[in-house]
Amino acid sequence: MRIGVPRETAPAERRVAIVPETGAKLARAGNEVLVERGAGTEASFVDSAYEQAGARIVDDAFHADLVIKVQKPTADEVAKLRRGSMLIAFLQSLIDPRYAQTLADRGVTALSMDAIPRLTRAQPMDALSSQATVAGYKAVLLAAAQLPRFFPMLTTAAGTIAPAKALVIGAGVAGLQAIATARRLGAVVEAFDTRPVVAEQVRSLGARFLEIDLGESGAGAGGYAKELSEEAHRKEVELLAKAARENDIVITTAAIPGRKAPVLITADMVPAMRPGSVIVDLAAETGGNCELTEAGKVVVKHGVTIIGTTNLPSTMPYHSSQMYSRNIASLLALFLKDGKATLDMGDEVIKGTVITQDGKVVHEATAKLLQAAGAAG
Ligand code: NAD
Repeated sequence: MRIGVPRETAPAERRVAIVPETGAKLARAGNEVLVERGAGTEASFVDSAYEQAGARIVDDAFHADLVIKVQKPTADEVAKLRRGSMLIAFLQSLIDPRYAQTLADRGVTALSMDAIPRLTRAQPMDALSSQATVAGYKAVLLAAAQLPRFFPMLTTAAGTIAPAKALVIGAGVAGLQAIATARRLGAVVEAFDTRPVVAEQVRSLGARFLEIDLGESGAGAGGYAKELSEEAHRKEVELLAKAARENDIVITTAAIPGRKAPVLITADMVPAMRPGSVIVDLAAETGGNCELTEAGKVVVKHGVTIIGTTNLPSTMPYHSSQMYSRNIASLLALFLKDGKATLDMGDEVIKGTVITQDGKVVHEATAKLLQAAGAAG
């Protein structure tokens, strides 16, 4: 099979979908690997490393049987995909179902990395998790770089320095990595999540879990969170208002799949925080957990630095690409044998990940959204 790896063209996207390590595996398995010139350069994977791995450097990697990307192809790039070819990328079909329809119309069989079902068996393919790990880590480093204080406690000739205090809101994949990173840097960390099951994981990382009786659990289907009732939300905001005042760093990662991020740090909480405090809002792209976050920007409001930088994985492109590429390799191992792709729709992971096939949108949740949009005119 001819596998194409284009250069990412989205603004500020520095990742590459396949790194030489994976390229070599695919080439050894008898595939022809075509890598667009310079595709990995921003992530520190130079063309010669791909050539040594058995790949061929080309000027256009879209004319392949299988095209593998990080970001979804632009309209111009979709037009370059061959009818009958396959595509793997973050297609975000639940956010933009019409895009999926375009791929179906183009006759492309598309698999989306953000649709991998969250099953134990699918963990090695879970690109949302691998990239959230990077984001959680980098969020803490960004906070450390802005904070006018040390993270660790220091005993120096100039006296003792108290450790920084960090609050992590949302203890999913990114939040847990943020907790671990802040602890490694020596901060005193506390965390909150509406799913009480994560309390033990938070404690195992050496952080305190904020206890509060919300009157309900935020645990929804499939291990994800669900939206809280108004009353529970009010109680949570009250708890976080107090915690935000007592911490130097607030890292927010709270998300509800398919919804706007809940506002947990309201505009009037920010002036009450200590001057010099830093908020890193990992939910900036989906509306922000802090009311004063500006997506894609670092702003200072009432003496508090609010970091709304988006696409943090792209700022650490070497490892985010390596992890993404390994996720892809695990997915390919499910359906690519002897250079032939066979999608077994009886396999839960494949069924959940395939968005379009045979000119149709076959992904159930995406198809439903399209139907609803069609019915609404
Ligand atoms: P996510 O990015 O959807 O959300 C981040 C966190 O925010 C979650 O922990 C959520 O509970 C929390 N949250 C939502 N609303 C909140 C609020 N109002 N206040 C505080 N916190 C709030 O989540 P994620 O990191 O993708 O992980 C979700 C779950 O999926 C976790 O249980 C994780 O262990 C599980 N998971 C399973 C697999 C697998 O089995 N393959 C892979 C990855 C994650």
